[in-house]
Amino acid sequence: MPGRLLIIWDFDSALGQINSTMPYNFKYDPIYQEIENVDYILTRAETENIEMTFACLGFAAEPGIFPFNIPDIISKLYSKGHEIASHSWRHEWFPSLTEKQVFRTLERSKQALEHCIGTGETVSGFVPPHSRPMSWIKKYSISLGDRGLYPFHKGSDIGYVLKQLDKLHYRWCRVLTNYRPVWEKITGHSNEDKVNFSEWEIHDNIVCVPQHYTGFDKPAIDYIKEAVNKNETAVISGHPAALSRDKSESREHFDRFITKAVQLRDEEGLEILTVSNFINKKFPK
Ligand SMILES: [Zn+2]
Repeated sequence: MPGRLLIIWDFDSALGQINSTMPYNFKYDPIYQEIENVDYILTRAETENIEMTFACLGFAAEPGIFPFNIPDIISKLYSKGHEIASHSWRHEWFPSLTEKQVFRTLERSKQALEHCIGTGETVSGFVPPHSRPMSWIKKYSISLGDRGLYPFHKGSDIGYVLKQLDKLHYRWCRVLTNYRPVWEKITGHSNEDKVNFSEWEIHDNIVCVPQHYTGFDKPAIDYIKEAVNKNETAVISGHPAALSRDKSESREHFDRFITKAVQLRDEEGLEILTVSNFINKKFPK
């Protein structure tokens, strides 16, 4: 059986970098570097005939000043066949947002991105910035690291975010695979370091896309080999900015990973798809 691979990029762009990795170490170099890396990814994808999903900030899609506003780059990604998803409006920390802010960041980012790529209703995915909230009240899963406590901070419950996504006609959201009840966290049950294709769930009409692994080193390769063996779907995430860093998302690891994925595609039939193309096949409306 062939298996499938979905690649999701967290394209943070200038504002995302400022709001996450380097608020007080602001420099232009990493921002330009990220844009160069996106170009590199795009070229490699074109050579190998692969489609991927890029989660972008709504703010970056607005007309304005380079490198803060990069609508041309985002529309180029779309025109090459890649999917554009929302990575929020300005890379907010969701657990600290008010209810209105949660709605507005989801609403305006979708509008800005759709306007940028010149289509309506084509931005159907959401990739939560900072991968927060890590709490899911319905599953009794609570993360103190969210630094926002439900019910005072509704944005600290991924279940609440999914409901808002449904109202705005999104179709999917990337979620962590370790939303476990507090008692399991305390007793230390964990299967996070193994290849584990967790169930795909649908809540409030939103398909929850499991975030299996971030990086392109050995665990990512193990995932795609297992996806082929078990006819499963591997979801691998990366940050274009991290291609320049000497870690699991480095350019060397990325190159090796893509070479392996292409080999598995050509020899074993592994399908490499955008998230929406996969969801439309697997969960037709
Ligand atoms: Zn991000």
